[in-house]
Order: sequence, then structure tokens, then C-alpha cells
Amino acid sequence: MTIALLAIVASGAPAAEVGSAGDADRMPHFGRSASRHPLVRLRDYLNSPAAATQPGWKRALVEIALNRKPRYARITSYCPRCGGSGTRWGSRTRAGICAADPSYWGPGSVVWIGPPINQTFTVEDTGGAVKGENHFDVCVGTSHAACRNIGVRRNVEYVVLYKAAPRSRWGRRPSGYKPPLAFDAPLFMPRVPEGR
Ligand SMILES: [Zn+2]
Repeated sequence: MTIALLAIVASGAPAAEVGSAGDADRMPHFGRSASRHPLVRLRDYLNSPAAATQPGWKRALVEIALNRKPRYARITSYCPRCGGSGTRWGSRTRAGICAADPSYWGPGSVVWIGPPINQTFTVEDTGGAVKGENHFDVCVGTSHAACRNIGVRRNVEYVVLYKAAPRSRWGRRPSGYKPPLAFDAPLFMPRVPEGR
């Protein structure tokens, strides 16, 4: 399969035939070279015995996301000490969650954020200073030192694993929440007014 696809690329097929028109964020990974997609290493790790305790949904979503074009974000960081102990979704501020702009991201969205963070985050929070589609305020743990160490990072590569539709009412995080393995929300959508 891979050899055939590479042959198409090598033959000089126009990019328009490789990707689907008008949906650049679902660019097939062979357009970029599968071996260089930033999620390849994570996929390989998740398929290794060392990752046996990782949730199955992560493995499945990463596999799908290998077809998705990476994007770039501004990353800031917070912890319970500097950002409060509770999230907008009613959960605890803890490692692996992040805040994002609710005009673009619904609660329960999942993104993988690349170097130097290299971690998967679930959107469970919002913040007045977290603005724009490409800004994530991440929590890497309860240590304030860790969050100060991250500071502000620009042009950090990220890949969407699951995008929940934006909504104004977040309610409470369902216990045992897992992102669905298929979703219909457009990956990137026009900003919607924040209703109250
Ligand atoms: Zn902090």
C-alpha cells in the first residue's frame, strides 16, 4: 500500500489529487511522508508493550490523526496554584488537561502537543487570557515549578485527536469520560459567538 502511494507522489501527481479539495486538515499523511508525521513515534510507543496501560481510545485516535496535518499553537502553562483547583468542566486541575478558547473548542476535545511538551491533553477548562484557536494553556502537573519552566512557547506543533463542537454551556464532565472514536464536527470552524 505504502509503496503504491509513494509511487503516485513520485510520479508527480498534482497535490490536488493527493489531498481532498477544500479540506487541507485531512491531508493524507503520504503527502508529507508517513515516516515524518509527528505522531509516528507516539503511535509506535502506543503499540509497544510499555504502553499496555494506555487507554485504547488514545491508540485509535492517534491512528486516525496520522492523516491529519499538524498545526502550530502558542502554549502557556498553569497549575492548581496559579490557575485554580477546579476547571470550567467541573473537574480538578491536573496533569493532562488544558484550557482553550471555547469559541473554537468544546469540552472533551483532545490534542497532542509536540516538543518540548510531547503530551496529549483534554480540553476541560477555559480562561480569560486563553484566546484564539491556536492557544492552549496546559497543565503538566501540580508543580508550579513545572508550569513556570514551560513559560510561553510559540509555534509548537500540535495535532487534533478529537474536536468537540464549541458550546456555551459546558455542564459537568461525565464520569469516566472518553472521547468518541468518530466525530462529525469540522476540524476547524468559524468562530461562534459565546452565548450565555
Ligand atoms: Zn503554576
